[in-house]
Amino acid sequence: MVVKWIKRWLKQPEQAHQLISIERDQHSVSRKGISHNALKVLYRLQNAGHEAYLVGGCVRDLQLGLNPKDFDVATDATPENIRKLFSNSRIIGRRFRIVHVTFGREIIEVTTFRGEADESDSDHKQSAEGLLLRDNVYGSLADDAKRRDFTINAMYYTAKDFSIKAYPQGMQDLQDKVIRIIGDAETRYREDPVRMLRAIRFAAKLGFNIEPATETPINTLAPLLTHIAPARLFDELLKLLMSGQGRDTWELMQKYDIVEPLLPQTHQVLNCVEDDHYATFIDIALRNTDARINSGKPVTPAFLYAALLWPAVRESAQHNIDMGTPEIPAWHKAMAQVLERQVKTIAIPKRFSIPMKEIWDMQLRLPKRRANRAEQIAGHPRFRAAYDFLILREDAGEQLNGLGQWWTDYQATNGEARQSMVANLQNNPPAQKRRRRRPPRKRQTPES
Ligand code: ATP
Ligand code: MG
Repeated sequence: MVVKWIKRWLKQPEQAHQLISIERDQHSVSRKGISHNALKVLYRLQNAGHEAYLVGGCVRDLQLGLNPKDFDVATDATPENIRKLFSNSRIIGRRFRIVHVTFGREIIEVTTFRGEADESDSDHKQSAEGLLLRDNVYGSLADDAKRRDFTINAMYYTAKDFSIKAYPQGMQDLQDKVIRIIGDAETRYREDPVRMLRAIRFAAKLGFNIEPATETPINTLAPLLTHIAPARLFDELLKLLMSGQGRDTWELMQKYDIVEPLLPQTHQVLNCVEDDHYATFIDIALRNTDARINSGKPVTPAFLYAALLWPAVRESAQHNIDMGTPEIPAWHKAMAQVLERQVKTIAIPKRFSIPMKEIWDMQLRLPKRRANRAEQIAGHPRFRAAYDFLILREDAGEQLNGLGQWWTDYQATNGEARQSMVANLQNNPPAQKRRRRRPPRKRQTPES
């Protein structure tokens, strides 16, 4: 019934860009799926005479029968008005001023309807490349919808009459499983290149297709991502790869040339090294991460980033060794260099980069098991992560003379059995074979 009704709206081009109201009996969102705290925020704003809506991903996900990750609210109240209504709130952000209302561990993000600004407006600032630097001009619900990224995200649910306001195209796209940007794709990506990452994230997360006009500019505009603040990119890459669909997302990131601007060193090694064991290594790392997330086990960004940068660290260490640096300093120099280059695009906080270095460093120590070293290694706080990392390397095809199995057996036993395992060891640290390299693969351009 709903489909037919939406189609009728879509046939009226002058109304296709206006929000329509879908009444409570014509959509599947029920209050049961909504956070109590989010409802509290809606009611308090409403009772103070404001318009207030749940907005974006939560309305989209509720209609798709998914559990929303978070609940966001849009309102005509200004940040100062909102702040006054909730003692448990604070204004954050400069680029976009938003209010966080905190209930224990849950944060409801409340934003004032954004409007379209003209060039002279001091609350609206754009760089020469079209990047939006500041956007604090307020507007109406209709203005706000236009500023949202995708049609399926411009959806508003009100607790006044439990209706949903959305574009007819948005309702259709939700049915058809389509990611469609609002407005001109190139302009919207130039305003905020992170929207390209969001298109890919939603495509992988929801299993939707990115429609052609939304998809086409991505490969060309992907380099704009280097203009984004490294701290924001750190968060965005985690959302992409630690959402339970990391492997599928990685595939899309490669398809849309997103790996190069975010992880240039990883991109380079994946494209230069002849065999594909590094690609397999990352693939398995992401599959394992997905499996852990989907079964409720904890994952750490340190392990994920250690895996993503391992190809570059290993190749760079080998290069240093080839240039005559002894093994241990060659590796330490490589780790430092790779991290130093990476943090220019993605700000990896120290609380993750320190354990990353430990995981890498342990890869050098795990083969050295003689005397009482094995016991020391097994007692290291990073041992478990380092061991998992080692298994990952072997699963990806690296030949390490049964090192992973040795450590598996070592953990399964104790006392004298451990001592005899060490005593039986012959001095056989796995020889690190050099791989042949080849020059970077030539890009296929449409003209070639
Ligand atoms: P999820 O929370 O599941 O990751 P979401 O769509 O809720 O997805 P949020 O980052 O929570 O994503 O953002 C909430 C809403 O804010 C979005 O649905 C969208 O309407 C809007 N939004 C977020 N980021 C942007 C952006 N870069 N450009 C335009 N609109 C955006
Ligand atoms: Mg959200």
